Amino acid sequence: MDTPDLVSRLLDVIEDDLLPLTRRGVGGGNKLFGAAILRKSDLSLVVGETNNETENPLWHGEMHAIKRFYELPAESRPAPRDCLFLATHEPCSLCLSGITWSGFDNFYYLFSYEDTRDSFGIPYDIRILKEVYAVPDPDRGYVPADRPLYNRKNAFFEAHDLQRMIAGMDRSSKERLVARVDDLNAAYNDLSATYQADKGKRGIPLS
Ligand SMILES: [Zn+2]
Repeated sequence: MDTPDLVSRLLDVIEDDLLPLTRRGVGGGNKLFGAAILRKSDLSLVVGETNNETENPLWHGEMHAIKRFYELPAESRPAPRDCLFLATHEPCSLCLSGITWSGFDNFYYLFSYEDTRDSFGIPYDIRILKEVYAVPDPDRGYVPADRPLYNRKNAFFEAHDLQRMIAGMDRSSKERLVARVDDLNAAYNDLSATYQADKGKRGIPLS
């Protein structure tokens, strides 16, 4: 499968499988982040989930999807190495570790940390990585401003930014897929407005 078809399939999963779940989740006071696990072989959906922090603040969309994945019967569950991990938003530090510890060697995401902070009003991905992990360089005494927040390609996984992938495509694929991202962006902005109007009432620690 070539890259435009892969990206198109991942946008389908977000639109058809994750958005309906997320609408329900946000309606119950949860954040709008979702995740899916697909088979690499045919891109069929294994698990789709969304944030469920009202039950447990660790049930981010990705963590919740991993929990459901490992609740599947072992005989019908593909090996994580044979799966593709999709996150609607770039995974936070918790979910980066969750993806790593559960054996996935990749993830794809639609919205970046900056989108999450600037468009969706949730600054914690960047804040936690900087506050908890960005240890000052002992020689220089400060954290270089251009230091990446995490290694997007490392010994455990490779991260793929769907919008960056689209930006590198031929013109017709790019126009078609950018239009789809715009529609998804609008749908997520509506959900974000609902969450932001209601947040703080459900006991989520970082809301
Ligand atoms: Zn997370």
